[in-house]
Amino acid sequence: MTEIKRDERVVSSAFRGLMRACELFMNEDERERVRKAFEFSRQAHSEMRRKTGEPYILHPIAVARVVVEEIGLKDTTAVVAALVHDVVEDTDYTVKDIQAMFGRTVAQITDGLTKISHGVHAMSTMQAETFRKMLLTMSSDIRVALIKIADRLHNMRTLKSMKPESRLKISAETSFLYAPLAHRLGLYNIKTELEDLALFYTEPETYQEIAKKVRATGPARGRYIQNFITPLKAMLESHGLPCEIFGRVKSISSIYQKMKKQGIPFEQVYDLFAVRVIVDVPEQQEYEACWKAYRLIDSLYQNHPNRMRDWLTRPRPNGYEALHTTVTGPGGRWVEVQIRSRRMDYNAEKGPAAHWRYKDNGATPADKKFEEWLGKIRSVLENKDIDAREFFMEVKNDLVTEHIHVFTPKGELKMLPPGATVLDLAYEIHTTIGHTAIGGKVNYEAVGLNHVLQNGDRVEIITSKAQKPDISWLDFVKTSKARERIKDATREQKKAFEEKGKKFFEESLRRYGVAPDDRVVDELLHFLDMDRAELYRRLGMHRIDLKRMSEFIKAKKAELAGESAARTLDFRVGRTFEGGASSDGENPLVFEGQDASFQMAACCSPIPGDDIMGFQDPKLGIVVHRSVCPKLRNLLAIDGKKAVKVKWNDKRQLTFLAGIKIEGYDRFGILINIVKVVTVRYKVNIRSITIDGVGGVFDGQLKVYVIDAAELEHLMEELRKIDGVVKVYRTEV
Ligand code: MN
Repeated sequence: MTEIKRDERVVSSAFRGLMRACELFMNEDERERVRKAFEFSRQAHSEMRRKTGEPYILHPIAVARVVVEEIGLKDTTAVVAALVHDVVEDTDYTVKDIQAMFGRTVAQITDGLTKISHGVHAMSTMQAETFRKMLLTMSSDIRVALIKIADRLHNMRTLKSMKPESRLKISAETSFLYAPLAHRLGLYNIKTELEDLALFYTEPETYQEIAKKVRATGPARGRYIQNFITPLKAMLESHGLPCEIFGRVKSISSIYQKMKKQGIPFEQVYDLFAVRVIVDVPEQQEYEACWKAYRLIDSLYQNHPNRMRDWLTRPRPNGYEALHTTVTGPGGRWVEVQIRSRRMDYNAEKGPAAHWRYKDNGATPADKKFEEWLGKIRSVLENKDIDAREFFMEVKNDLVTEHIHVFTPKGELKMLPPGATVLDLAYEIHTTIGHTAIGGKVNYEAVGLNHVLQNGDRVEIITSKAQKPDISWLDFVKTSKARERIKDATREQKKAFEEKGKKFFEESLRRYGVAPDDRVVDELLHFLDMDRAELYRRLGMHRIDLKRMSEFIKAKKAELAGESAARTLDFRVGRTFEGGASSDGENPLVFEGQDASFQMAACCSPIPGDDIMGFQDPKLGIVVHRSVCPKLRNLLAIDGKKAVKVKWNDKRQLTFLAGIKIEGYDRFGILINIVKVVTVRYKVNIRSITIDGVGGVFDGQLKVYVIDAAELEHLMEELRKIDGVVKVYRTEV
């Protein structure tokens, strides 16, 4: 069979698959529209192939199928738009052509999608801008975001065929942006798959290791879950609750996040076991049935008091409803149980898209919450002055956090991010109320503007006509809305502080004999993680640790003068080397195909043996991070092109500073034991050791010089064996 024939067969079989998925909700006219879109897109992309070598049209077909089957968006316009989504981007056809053929709505959606991908290609330095555009188009038509997520999912599934550098960039962008967005839209399965795929490419070894352990423990886990479920199901049904119960395997990325967050090995992730109970009752009984199931589970297995989540009384902002609880199963192991009705389960699996088609016949609660969220984003976007990158970070924070609910004295419910203060609420109610707020009453008790609100608080705002917004308020507000309003109102004040701070800064530099445009200043800004304006502003407000700053400058100056040249090097802050494969074998890094100067990132302190990745900083040269470093992820997500491949030079003979955190029970002599293990058994040099004991528990921080990650790992293994030590993990230095 010729190649062309084979291609044709593959393409028409894929298209038939899509049509089968659409059959249930399309009439003959609609099917005809889809066929027309397919023929047009196939012809438009006929010259192109995907990186996998397949005909390009397979990609839009796959995206359309994800839209229908996995997102659950049963909408002809969305299918048509998905089929032509790359036409304007990749061929000579224009949005006008699309409009002439498929109408205005499809044209608008395609336009939105094209703008987004233009962003990704042409403006990779400003992916924040891309994100902003996406949210803008998304707030006028949600299908843009849903198709974009489907597009990204298919690209991630086929990422293997891309170059390694692009894989990293796309994966970083995915975990940074698209996975939280999918989560926010209630597409939990897609969110999980995106995160797993991103982890698979960014940290292949970690991924494989966890996957292996998940597989190895699979059969035992299956038996355990069965033992857990059988009595539970019998009990629920004997109380008149027909239900389906099944075990769920936690995703690899969520296991990894737990391990990282709590600094524990795989074996100690306690809620590896997860079970879902779906009660099969008529809709009008579903809430009652869920609570009844909860009480019955509680009577069978002991529950964990702090791990109950009630998303029934207050659904998540995206409409998610369920009860979550964690109980002790047989043998004392934690099991997470999710309780939902059939309808709730369907909505959770398909997300709010499941409702989309019926939106015109009355919005569901899920849709209303979602509209509120979009409205909020729209109001922030209307502020033209806002810096795109800053906006990106703020909206991103809105995306990933859960919310708390508080009440106004009139009994109105307001939604705020966790950590939000009285002042956030004031701005949430009205800008004028924010500007004139002087304090509040939380549950009838007087509090300050910076008082942090709790879920369920009743909050009254106290205002005064004499009050004016103050720039210091920025230190304690959490919502992007409050931030923006305060910034607008305090622009003059900010300028005055900045000028004052600038003068002060330049005077102090003169005292150190440093010019304001010196490299030392850039490194200082990097060290403080601020830009110049922020530094000036903080100085002007006397809100910076001057001692820390002057110590840094002195140390830097001395270092640049070439004073310290010990064989044992401290890589913590910005020591610069001339790179390339040097002959003396003292250079710890090798760069692929280039000579470059570099430094070790202060945020994650890589040591030999770690997986590393360089980032081309415009001012600092190549900064080398561990590939697990969250800061690197953010950098790559915003500007993936600056990734630089680096690897360790095996010939190096240096020692590196590493940090170890030790936690355990305080007992006499434990310090001696730790020191013994480190110095006598391991002959490793200690740079510093601090131990804090409170209430029978100790908390130690150790800084040691090691040769590589393997040595560090062995050392940590030994420390774990010490009697009384509970947790040992690596930290920053
Ligand atoms: Mn595409």
